Amino acid sequence: MQELKNIWATILEKLELNVSNVSFVMWFKPLKVVDLVDNKKLVIATNSTSAKNQILRNYMDKLSEVVNDIIGTSVEIEVLDPNEEIAYVEKNGDKNSQKEVEVTKNPFNNKYTFDNFVVGKSNQFVYAAARAVAEHPGEKFNPLFIYGGVGLGKTHILHAIGNYLREFNPNLKVAYVTCEQFVNAYTESLGSNSKMKATLEFRAKYRNLDVLMVDDIQSISNKMGTQEEFFNTYNELYQNNKQVIITSDRPPKEIPTLTDRLQSRFSSGILQDIQSPDYETKVAILRKKCQIEKYVIDDDAINYIAERVDSNIRELEGMLAKVNFFANLLGKKSATKEDAIEAFDSEAEEDKNEDYTPEMIISTVCKYFDITKEEIVSKKKSKEIVEPRMIAIYLIDELLAMPLKAIGKIFGGRDHSTVINARDNISAKMKTSQKTQTMVAEIKRMLKGG
Ligand code: ADP
Ligand code: MG
Repeated sequence: MQELKNIWATILEKLELNVSNVSFVMWFKPLKVVDLVDNKKLVIATNSTSAKNQILRNYMDKLSEVVNDIIGTSVEIEVLDPNEEIAYVEKNGDKNSQKEVEVTKNPFNNKYTFDNFVVGKSNQFVYAAARAVAEHPGEKFNPLFIYGGVGLGKTHILHAIGNYLREFNPNLKVAYVTCEQFVNAYTESLGSNSKMKATLEFRAKYRNLDVLMVDDIQSISNKMGTQEEFFNTYNELYQNNKQVIITSDRPPKEIPTLTDRLQSRFSSGILQDIQSPDYETKVAILRKKCQIEKYVIDDDAINYIAERVDSNIRELEGMLAKVNFFANLLGKKSATKEDAIEAFDSEAEEDKNEDYTPEMIISTVCKYFDITKEEIVSKKKSKEIVEPRMIAIYLIDELLAMPLKAIGKIFGGRDHSTVINARDNISAKMKTSQKTQTMVAEIKRMLKGG
């Protein structure tokens, strides 16, 4: 619990770092906090109606960015002028002075828990280490360095530790950052107007933690300044028996240009790799997901998905959702193996589209209409050429999502409004003309080699 006015003070401090001096003094400093309703609506008051208008016109973005950052949830902001403030206080009482509020900012995804993490051969050691760290932070496995390929559960494990700590050790100061965020926060502190203050603030934030988690540390590799700062942060935490947990897509020795000092720090703790799940683990994960998401899916469909998806668990989940979606479309109570086959087929189809090139599309359209490539990109305006040209443009836009400018270039340097006209013309006809629909469908079939 914190007093509302203290929270407001923190918000102002942060704003001061984020806006010019003049606007801070003119517009933000005179603001008064009036109330925070259910952690959802922050009510503030200005000292004049024109100040209220200024704030509404020019500063709401900045204000809500900082408010959301400090209070956490996406808080709505209501700005009052002095008269409205009086009316508000008369109606609701003066909350400002005594109100205590809970800041509920939770950086952890509540679906990523230990309970929802399926343990198998591929990840049992990571799980055990993470669990031990969650139960005894700073005591045993410090630092804990987890590495493994994409989609194998590294981020999930970090969030699981975070959720566990919030529940059983809520007084600990725990921070989760992606390496990217750490780098950005650090570089921002360097670029700030009051550099000293910002750098100190940055240090205070990271060095007073009980648990620091940095996700995807490999992206620190070419950022020497950040490595230095991280090294110092790390030492400070480590010396005070604070827990550091790091993930990476590869082991420390394979992160290029990671300084020797960091290499040896990381390697001095527990290095644990997370491997690709075997078939049984994949099936178990799919079952767990069905339970969490309330999907109803036949066993043989689940087995089929587990067979077809190689190792990436994110992909496994994606396919499961797709199979469920397909079955829902057909109004089925339970998804079957046929739905699964269908889902994979459509995926393959989509993949295939990505392999098309503009040349392939143009030559297929030319073949279909029996015209030459020179003609289709030429300036000719006869109907026999214009329609195929528009269809080719439409298809390139639909199948390749290329920038319009680039499409114009392919078609003899036409400007992008011509491209838009062509595309929209066919788009409109696709809704009304049977003939156009058939032509486009046939060209697509030819493209697929059918
Ligand atoms: P990474 O960070 O390694 O790229 P994530 O932690 O983002 O991977 O995991 C990708 C998805 O797979 C997430 O939705 C996560 O919940 C899920 N997942 C990964 N491993 C497991 C597991 N052992 N049990 C259940 N779900 C898992
Ligand atoms: Mg991740």
